[in-house]
Amino acid sequence: MIKKKFALIGYPLKHTISPFIHQRLFKLNKIKAEYKLLNIKPEHLAHNYKTILKSLDGYNITIPNKIKIMNFVDKIDYTSKICGSINTVKNNLNKSYGFNTDINGFLKSTKNNKISLTGNIVILGAGGAARAVSFACSNYAKTITLAIRETSFKKAKYILYTLKNTPAKIKITSINNLNTPIDVLINATPVGMFPNQNAVLVNENILKNCKCVIDLIYNPYETILLKKAKANGSQTLGGLDMLVWQAAFAQKIWNDVDFNIQDINEIIEESKLEIARKFNEI
Ligand code: NAP
Repeated sequence: MIKKKFALIGYPLKHTISPFIHQRLFKLNKIKAEYKLLNIKPEHLAHNYKTILKSLDGYNITIPNKIKIMNFVDKIDYTSKICGSINTVKNNLNKSYGFNTDINGFLKSTKNNKISLTGNIVILGAGGAARAVSFACSNYAKTITLAIRETSFKKAKYILYTLKNTPAKIKITSINNLNTPIDVLINATPVGMFPNQNAVLVNENILKNCKCVIDLIYNPYETILLKKAKANGSQTLGGLDMLVWQAAFAQKIWNDVDFNIQDINEIIEESKLEIARKFNEI
């Protein structure tokens, strides 16, 4: 059997556990494949696209290339085009196809953890992850408030514009002017991520009035934000479930395979240990 070739492109890639997750997913379907890490800066994407990336069966894209890569691929699926970023490319017969599996990864992780997205949702940040999550929530939520710092305003306006025809009412506010109560608060910023685990963006008053708090960060597995929210009695969810599900959806696109919840939950548990091992080591 020919070994298929996949990769993750981003910069820097020191903290990723994607190769671990993808190898576990390949194993479940007995697919012989490699999954390499390719450190590629945005300014080198064009050159690498023509050379290395075209030779792969498919690849994932992470920070900071999720938007820029869209300039190069031949075809982008409808939802990813509206969302404005892609994290998965499949190469087939000399053509490349772009998708965003963060959207379904997020929806699957919330559904499996019985989190309702129908109320008032607040998303911290307006970057790539906030785009995908806002898009995912926009068909369910009553309101989506993008709570941002000043420098994110243009990005937040873009999200507001792309979601203007969806059922949810979309608003933009400064993080400092957040109103409560909040049904679901979602951290889509890197604040609280390794190696700055002690940072938290919202104060106790806000946290006390959140029914549910989701942090898209997966390293550490449980951020300080989630620990505080849990202590207040809120429902909580970290970013690891989404990370594993978005990888499973990427493999569905590449290899036409499906996964069951039990197998994915097992990989989530193993990934928790892998994170602990990797980040204690660094
Ligand atoms: P990004 O595109 O760089 O966006 C980050 C956003 O956070 C930007 O709007 C940025 O503001 C804002 N931000 C950063 N520091 C801030 C601060 N101190 N105060 C207020 N806002 C701040 O990154 P991303 O791709 O969206 O990723 C965000 C996080 O989500 C990362 O931790 C990433 O690991 C995680 N993520 C997880 C998954 C998963 O599967 N679990 C998937 C994707 C991303 P500016 O606009 O001013 O720069």
